[in-house]
Amino acid sequence: MNIHRPQTLEVGFRDSVNIMVDHAMSTLTLPEGMAENIRICNATYTVRFGVRLRGHFHTFTGYRAVHSDHMEPVKGGIRFATAVDQDEVEALAALMTYKCALVEVPFGGAKGGLCIDPNEWTEDELEKITRRFAYELIKRDLIHPSQNVPAPDMGTGEREMAWIADEYRRMNTIDINARGCVTGKPLFAGGIAGRVEATGRGIQYALREFFRHQEDVKSAHLEGNLEGKRIVIQGLGNVGYHAALFLSEEDGALITTVIERDGAVSNNKGLDIQALKDHITETGGVKGFSGGTFAEDGAAALENECDILIPAAMEGAINLSNAAQIKAPLIIEAANGPVTAGADEILRQKDCIIIPDLYANAGGVTVSYFEWVKNLSHIRFGRLQRRQEEMRQTSLLSAVEDITGRFFNDSFKTSYMQGASEVDLVRSGLDDTMRHAYQTTREVWRTEKNCPDLRTAAYIVAIKRISAAYSGLNL
Ligand code: NAD
Repeated sequence: MNIHRPQTLEVGFRDSVNIMVDHAMSTLTLPEGMAENIRICNATYTVRFGVRLRGHFHTFTGYRAVHSDHMEPVKGGIRFATAVDQDEVEALAALMTYKCALVEVPFGGAKGGLCIDPNEWTEDELEKITRRFAYELIKRDLIHPSQNVPAPDMGTGEREMAWIADEYRRMNTIDINARGCVTGKPLFAGGIAGRVEATGRGIQYALREFFRHQEDVKSAHLEGNLEGKRIVIQGLGNVGYHAALFLSEEDGALITTVIERDGAVSNNKGLDIQALKDHITETGGVKGFSGGTFAEDGAAALENECDILIPAAMEGAINLSNAAQIKAPLIIEAANGPVTAGADEILRQKDCIIIPDLYANAGGVTVSYFEWVKNLSHIRFGRLQRRQEEMRQTSLLSAVEDITGRFFNDSFKTSYMQGASEVDLVRSGLDDTMRHAYQTTREVWRTEKNCPDLRTAAYIVAIKRISAAYSGLNL
């Protein structure tokens, strides 16, 4: 049993994920050889290609890793960053396998990455590079609606997904399901309402569900709900921005510190997230924001006093060098792998509760799943039933008013009579997914012997499902 084994040396990202997986596996009785079968990354394709830009050839290196194809298609984002390498892509692909299993999204796990700084290239150049990378993957079925479906990740977004979808369509002119080859597309290219916000929205739903379980809240030495809770967040990109915006505007939480690449900005009364985001878009960083105090050492601000810490930037942010100094009693991992295996152990010994990445940031892949289903069914969610629902609700209200002789106020009528739009349905499906997955996970945490934390519990749930799926295959 390797639970509680202290880590004194920091290991790579993939090994860090595997250490956490091994903790969970050591509590399970799996069929002979199954643990290794699940743990290993099935395949990683490396591609090096040249693109003629600015008068000469530039060579780029990209990866697509398939961690597990016990279910197909496999699913996982494509990241554009200079730190992309095989170890990182394989770690992220593994996380996708466990994440999909945990939130019951019927996909295997994959991940892709291109080693590039997107800021160094113009939009036209980026389009050329992205299309060429996509072409290399498409011709090997590493992008395909029934085989391998990417999505956005760090450094990519709707724009890149639209280019990828278009490249696939050009190369597969008679594939009626072509739009399902990638998710996270803009609406005009077959995307779904609510995908851009989905991962941040999922963080909000995860925290709301956590605070519905007062026993768990107590374990984190907190009480009450999200109202007034002080939050430190690292990274105000897609995930961090949406999480911070929703938690402050809809749940009354106070975002007291935001950490970005150029430093941190703090305000004990709570930062205005939209104003800060506008400032970052305009100036490229948090420095100079008038609504808070700036500190150059961003990483040090991870150690600020707060109730909840949300690392939403990159892996390894909380590691052996700073884990002991972290003061937050509750961490929710919005990024993938922000707490290393060594730091995880230190934090657990300090009684810090960690809501783990494979659960916390699963909102993105959940809504990607909805988008893929929409693409395969070729119809917007809610299109058939929305007006019918409205008619029924309207008749019901009129009948009640007729019978009682009393009248509902207009705002109640408007909200009650409205049929569900696509974004309403997406949010409802996401909320249900996040609630259900948390309840399943906490049940294991609270009842299984040798399950010390939510992370181990989440892996236990996922591994059992993957093992069952593999057992049913003719391998
Ligand atoms: P993004 O590129 O939109 O945002 C990342 C943000 O972090 C940027 O604002 C960047 O400036 C900031 N940042 C980078 N390095 C930093 C540093 N050293 N210190 C402080 N800030 C730093 O990326 P994203 O899509 O928001 O992804 C963030 C994390 O969430 C990644 O780990 C990603 O794998 C994970 N994730 C993303 C999604 C998604 O749907 N986009 C889904 C699941 C998980």
